[in-house]
Amino acid sequence: MPTTSLESWGHSTVRTACPLDCPDSCTLDVTVEKGRVLKIDGGDANPVTRNYICAKVRRFAERVYGEDRLLYPAIRTGRKGQGTFTRVTWGEALDHITERMEKIRDTTGAEAILPFYYGGSNGLLTQDTTDATLFRAFGTSRLARTVCAAPTGAANQALYGKMPGVTYEDYVHARLIVLWGVNPAASGIHLIPYVREARKQGAKLVVIDPRSTSLARQADLHLAPRPGTDLPIALALHHYLFEQGGTDDRFLAEHTRGAAQLRARASEWTIERAATEAGIDADALAQFAEMYRSISPALVRCGWGLERNRNGGSAAAAVLALPAVGGKFGVRGGGFSMSNSAALGIKAAAWMDETPEPSTRLVNMNLLGRALTEFKDPPVEMLFVYNCNPLATIPDQNRVLEGLKREDLFTVVYEQVFTDTARYADVLLPATTFLENYDIAKGYGPITLQLVRPVIEPVGEARANAEVFSDLAARLGIGEAEEETDTLLRIGNRLPAGLSSELLEHGSATPPFGGAPIQFVDVFPLTPDRKVDLFPEALDRTAPAGMYGYQADPGTDKYPLALISPASEKSVSSTLAELRQRPAMLQMNPEDARARGLASEDPVRVFNDLGEVQCPVALNPDIRPGTVSLPKGLWRKSTYNGSTSNALVPDSLTDLGAGACFNDARVQVASLGKH
Ligand code: SF4
Repeated sequence: MPTTSLESWGHSTVRTACPLDCPDSCTLDVTVEKGRVLKIDGGDANPVTRNYICAKVRRFAERVYGEDRLLYPAIRTGRKGQGTFTRVTWGEALDHITERMEKIRDTTGAEAILPFYYGGSNGLLTQDTTDATLFRAFGTSRLARTVCAAPTGAANQALYGKMPGVTYEDYVHARLIVLWGVNPAASGIHLIPYVREARKQGAKLVVIDPRSTSLARQADLHLAPRPGTDLPIALALHHYLFEQGGTDDRFLAEHTRGAAQLRARASEWTIERAATEAGIDADALAQFAEMYRSISPALVRCGWGLERNRNGGSAAAAVLALPAVGGKFGVRGGGFSMSNSAALGIKAAAWMDETPEPSTRLVNMNLLGRALTEFKDPPVEMLFVYNCNPLATIPDQNRVLEGLKREDLFTVVYEQVFTDTARYADVLLPATTFLENYDIAKGYGPITLQLVRPVIEPVGEARANAEVFSDLAARLGIGEAEEETDTLLRIGNRLPAGLSSELLEHGSATPPFGGAPIQFVDVFPLTPDRKVDLFPEALDRTAPAGMYGYQADPGTDKYPLALISPASEKSVSSTLAELRQRPAMLQMNPEDARARGLASEDPVRVFNDLGEVQCPVALNPDIRPGTVSLPKGLWRKSTYNGSTSNALVPDSLTDLGAGACFNDARVQVASLGKH
């Protein structure tokens, strides 16, 4: 808020919000001097922010003014990937793009164009607005955005119709908190004080994570399962609840369907069998089951770590089903907590459907490598990348790279910084950051809606997404150019009643139920019959092993180690990972290192049949034996050989939601010798 001390003369502080892909959706107070960002701090319009933010976004000015920042449009002059470009005007760059789009449409057909985008910004204006209008009207291929949250989203949709979950403020009312496949220290840091407060008031904490994270070390019980085995653990809990009188039969009869089928599928998973499969202690699992049966209010936070494998959808469904089977709903602090992205009832269809979606080819983004190298009828001739750095974030990195190297592929990269993907562009367009444009930030942890305001002028010639896509549409004769403020008002007017005026007048909107609904008191399932569907038949038909069907570990004698790539404390996926200075280190249990004759900081090869990553190793007792870890979102410069964990990740898909199986990478590790 405006400051008055002598030291602050010449400064102003602008209130905005963080729209990055993080549950917390912080209020930001940004100090500006002479048009430059001096400091980024937390505000309090979203009360969960409590005036502090993560170290990542405190450094965001280094991205805004850093050496990687794209400052003007440019066209490739050298070979693909050589990284040489010549500066052009916006008009020249957009003309070049429109000419190529028209040529492709008139020869191969517009489906040969693939827009490729994800959550570089999660704001409502930055994607699914004028970009959707452009690509829908032009008839390009469509993109299934499945790289994250697709399995958990499919499970939550099928079981509960995406009913809002317990919000951070209500954790203090829980007497048992289960953090399952989530590490708030890396993503969603504002949850931590609420967990601590609950602990002070006597709550028990259980953490399920193959690593001993900081919260795991403080927990009453930490289970460190083999990656991909969350499903047997959750089914063993169901089996225990059904067999040990831990169910609320009245609740099951009134509010659910499919309990009998779930019980039947869970029946084969005894505590002992699940513990063996997961590589954990059976007594500890039994202790967890009894804690969950006997303690209320009990709250399960279902994270996104458990979805990143072949069993991820069924695992998420089984975890989300626990409070229904265990009778944990109906009290403050009881139930489940996951994504609250649907809690405000905002549907992008309200503005996107002005231009109906064509029935053109739908491409799963996790299969980008294959789309670029194998798809025919038509082949992908143009890739339009924005809000996304696929060479860093998509599975089967070497196949993606092979595709990007195609000389006959026309690639547009519309970005804030010169990413790994941007190096392979034919045309580079500079994008504004959230400190330079308007947006609407919607939280998916706390239930919040906040206005993102530009706090500085665009750096260089950067332009906002909403403007650029409408400009392109106008040049192609399929739409009208629109200022971003016009887009803001247009979208604002299509938000559910009351939200828009509050948002535009006050910068934030008041959430329903004081921002903290009680499940099965204030909110109910949004399924067609308003019941929890514990055994969705449609998913049972499509899942490879049926609903709650377990697929065995893909490890082999040749590649026995499970490689995971969890969220890091340094970047939001690949955003800000450009600031990493030192090579990333492979985290390995000392027992596994000893077996391979490795010492701390030795250079190693991490490899399988898909690729190889070369980096130093860190001996870390906090990771379970048999599992190794590299951070998510690394840029290629962060390893010795320019490959990251995704070079080792297969492009196989999860059982539900066709998501990415990042944690199904199975690898071997060996010394690299002197580096
Ligand atoms: S990334 Fe998350 S914790 Fe960091 S400022 Fe943004 S919303 Fe807050």
